[in-house]
Amino acid sequence: MSKAKVLLVEDDPIQARATEAILRDTGYEVFWAQDGINAIKLVKSLKPDIILLDVILPGLDGYEVCRWLKLDETAKGIPVIMLTIKKELSDKISGLQIGADDYLPKPYNELELNARIYASLRTKALQDELRMKNKQMEELLDKVNYMAITDALTGLYNRRKFHDTLTSEFERAKRYGTPFSLIMIDIDHFKRVNDSYGHNAGDAVLKVVSSLILKSVREIDTASRFGGEEFMVVLPNTDLNNARVVAERMLVTIARYPFPDINEAITVSIGIGGMPNSNIKNEDQVIRCADIALYRAKQTGRNRVEVSTGEELAGNL
Ligand code: GH3
Ligand code: MG
Ligand code: MG
Ligand code: MG
Repeated sequence: MSKAKVLLVEDDPIQARATEAILRDTGYEVFWAQDGINAIKLVKSLKPDIILLDVILPGLDGYEVCRWLKLDETAKGIPVIMLTIKKELSDKISGLQIGADDYLPKPYNELELNARIYASLRTKALQDELRMKNKQMEELLDKVNYMAITDALTGLYNRRKFHDTLTSEFERAKRYGTPFSLIMIDIDHFKRVNDSYGHNAGDAVLKVVSSLILKSVREIDTASRFGGEEFMVVLPNTDLNNARVVAERMLVTIARYPFPDINEAITVSIGIGGMPNSNIKNEDQVIRCADIALYRAKQTGRNRVEVSTGEELAGNL
């Protein structure tokens, strides 16, 4: 382990030399600044682990130096111990009020000095560790949250996130009458792709199709993997006509895409449902509409977009 760096700010050379000797003996690396301005400069360049700061200094006094340091983002975490010959309580209080971490009245003895430094460094180390642990926890939490809503293979949102999004869009549509559309996408003859090129090639196709879907929609749209080779996109503030335009564009993009190692076009069939729709009573029926339309697209030749008006619901329930 490297030695802890102590910055000693002391205008009296004799006092400074004496303190420095004690600190060196204890095993610290010691740097000395004779006034406040130099102290601030040295803090920036040295990044000491702790600062021993004399209160009475020529020019900027110790309190002012401390105030500056505690306002500085990079310096404020460094513990400051104020050193002074004044013994009044008011001094101690003003030292601590401006952010000093501890206070040591002069003349101090070797033991007391070392004990105070040790305690401050340990507190700092514990705080740093706590901060690091908190950061790690936050990162872990971010990761867990990400994993909870993401499909591992494609990186799209997963089915759970899809349902959450659909629920909130449906609630919004019911309450405010805002339109939204649901696009359901199913890869055509995907079983054949797997059979002809292998499961890994199938996975690669799923990834590419996902990225093409994502590229065809807006930032506010939620694209998710619904299951195997089926995808859902929720499009807020989008009526069926506009959703059809998006879907047609997606369809053509995918059909024209030269999939590596696949010697045929990959196509998708797309079904669309949406709100407002007087036939739709709940969010499951929105899915049902998209599914009915998708089924029709499959029946009528695949590589097509079909839109459901919701009238089919009556006959299908
Ligand atoms: P259709 O045009 O009617 O949709 O026919 P299809 O072959 O695409 O539909 P079907 O539902 O018969 O087959 C879907 C296939 O998708 C079957 C399954 O093995 C495959 N599949 C599902 N999930 C995955 C996956 O994660 N990776 C791969 N490679 N294949 C998958
Ligand atoms: Mg002094
Ligand atoms: Mg399917
Ligand atoms: Mg399919």
